[in-house]
Amino acid sequence: MKQTKILLPETEIPKQWYNVVADLPTPPAPALGPDGNPLDPSAMSPIFADNIIEQEVSDKRWIDIPEPVREIYQQWRPAPMFRAHRLEEALGTPAKIYYKYEGVSAAGSHKLNSAIAQAYYNKVAGIKRLTTETGAGQWGSSLSLAGQMFGIDVRIYMVKVSYEQKPFRRSMMQTWGGEVIASPSNLTESGRKILAADPDSRGSLGIAISEAVEEAVSREDTKYSLGSVLNHVLLHQTVIGLEAKKQFEMVGDYPDMIFAPCGGGSNFGGVAFPFYADEAAGGKKVRLVAVEPTSCPSLTKGHYAYDFGDTEGFTPMMLQYTLGHDFMPPGIHAGGLRYHGASSLVSQMYHDKLIEAVAVPQVATFEAGVQFARAEGIIPAPESNHAIRACIDEALRCKESGEEKTLFFNLSGHGHFDMVSYDKYFTKQLEDYEYPQSEIDAALARLPKVKA
Ligand SMILES: *Cc1c(COP(=O)(O)O)cnc(C)c1O
Repeated sequence: MKQTKILLPETEIPKQWYNVVADLPTPPAPALGPDGNPLDPSAMSPIFADNIIEQEVSDKRWIDIPEPVREIYQQWRPAPMFRAHRLEEALGTPAKIYYKYEGVSAAGSHKLNSAIAQAYYNKVAGIKRLTTETGAGQWGSSLSLAGQMFGIDVRIYMVKVSYEQKPFRRSMMQTWGGEVIASPSNLTESGRKILAADPDSRGSLGIAISEAVEEAVSREDTKYSLGSVLNHVLLHQTVIGLEAKKQFEMVGDYPDMIFAPCGGGSNFGGVAFPFYADEAAGGKKVRLVAVEPTSCPSLTKGHYAYDFGDTEGFTPMMLQYTLGHDFMPPGIHAGGLRYHGASSLVSQMYHDKLIEAVAVPQVATFEAGVQFARAEGIIPAPESNHAIRACIDEALRCKESGEEKTLFFNLSGHGHFDMVSYDKYFTKQLEDYEYPQSEIDAALARLPKVKA
């Protein structure tokens, strides 16, 4: 019998997260405050608990995972890795394809890895309430569950287009005790301002972040929690790559290329950084490929510049690849990839050519997802379909050239709550959307004026 499933025992749940900052050729650029000067980390304390800020700015290579967090991780970690023999056969490729499956978490994606950690640290810091934003609802559902597990109330500003497209994600959040508000809302200054300008606004992650941050800053008992982008979130996600390395060891293989969908960059960083650590230590170089939609191409078409994380400019400015903080991505079906910027760490590594990026169009991602589901069974999240598309494209190139590369992608979540999107694909209602360069240029012209 061919081995398809590669499982680790529970004793192999990582005991430490890996912090890539320790292995970067140059230290990360500092976040800037409203005056354009480097921000003292303590200035972030109206938004984040101190123990989270400490992690955000840490340059320690290894950071202990608290036991209560590992205990909850045990419910679904170590996550399985699979060798996609059936997909390889369907493609007729000599390449070997592996994937790590993060859809086994109760919330259905990798996002629970960081939600549990963040809820834990806020609990320890005495915080009673968390606000956050959600695009497709993956992060909101993860934080609702994590808040429930640690006795913290969670309010979620959900991008209106997803609120309407994904009603069952909303019910999921409510089941776990989360309070869900369609964004832009009338509850915040930022929301009211957007609605006054455009009463039909369908929202964006940038607007929802402004609303959630505004509320957190206005209340003593409340902090804000972010599901991607920031260093501490990418740190928490490294459990994915750390486990995968052990799984490759078990089967005596090692990837040549790794693909992951890239929205804010957390599952990409999570799976890729631990392999970069090998390269930094003088080991084998792996090509690390971040895959984004052509409709929201932050890395492949954005500028490397200081920009805000939200539409209103409440967050510190961070050096990143960005399409401009008020960029309005179209309502594509991979809500988790509709973010105007990218993580500073991922951006820096892209700028320094330590990683690669490609953009893929929407219809082709669903084609890949359906082909994958028919071969392997699992129905992927629309975000994950981006990585699958890029991996299949590479496997087909290997078929042409006869190369026996080892390809690996992160299957970041399942698509059980995204069947409306699949339905649109089957009924040919999905469109490809290439953002007009003129609109990107217009949004970029509104970048804050500071020197990079
Ligand atoms: C949120 C999400 C993504 C993209 O977010 P990152 O922070 O870039 O990882 C990818 N896949 C799934 C299933 C998601 O929920």
